[in-house]
Amino acid sequence: MKKNIKSFEEAAEFHGHVCPGLAIGYRAAEVALDELFSKRSDDEEIVCIVENDACSIDGIQVVAGCTIGKGNLLFRDHGKQVYTFILRDGSDAVRVSQKPEFAMNSAPGASELMKKFFSGEATAEEEELYHKQRSDMIDKYLTSPADEVFEIRHVKPEIPEKARLFNSVRCAECGETVSESRARVKEGKFVCIPCSNEYGGINR
Ligand SMILES: [Zn+2]
Ligand SMILES: [Zn+2]
Repeated sequence: MKKNIKSFEEAAEFHGHVCPGLAIGYRAAEVALDELFSKRSDDEEIVCIVENDACSIDGIQVVAGCTIGKGNLLFRDHGKQVYTFILRDGSDAVRVSQKPEFAMNSAPGASELMKKFFSGEATAEEEELYHKQRSDMIDKYLTSPADEVFEIRHVKPEIPEKARLFNSVRCAECGETVSESRARVKEGKFVCIPCSNEYGGINR
């Protein structure tokens, strides 16, 4: 079964702009769905583990239908362009990682150009070049052969345990309710994370 996926335009509408990050996420999900569904006839739910929280995640959400709220999008703060898509029934999983030569700013001089652009020091010519490099990158992500852009591997389908439902407790300091699983104990009382001083206390 070839999955019908939403168009890149629909992903851009959801994300709010077109950018290389969105393109990489969109393509990663498309590639993974092809891998996972080419030999299946049914429409099994996907669980996706994403290892960054940048633009690309919106592409994943639109294509794979995974969201934080549904609990089938799991975020690991690794700062890596790596995405693991797992069939909910545990029958297959695929890990898609961006190849280094396809990293953003891999074009010669791209990093310096980006710095100049964002500091407002780029000349009109440099601005044009910056936009051109970006749109070339987007095209490359969307149209290059999948195995050039990504390292694609089938991996053991392991779905991390789903978050259980926890009771709420009341924070002894701010009085707001907080999930028991996230509460801290301070001087023998439940407090929320912002009040626990871990992140500088209530003066946040
Ligand atoms: Zn973006
Ligand atoms: Zn509190």
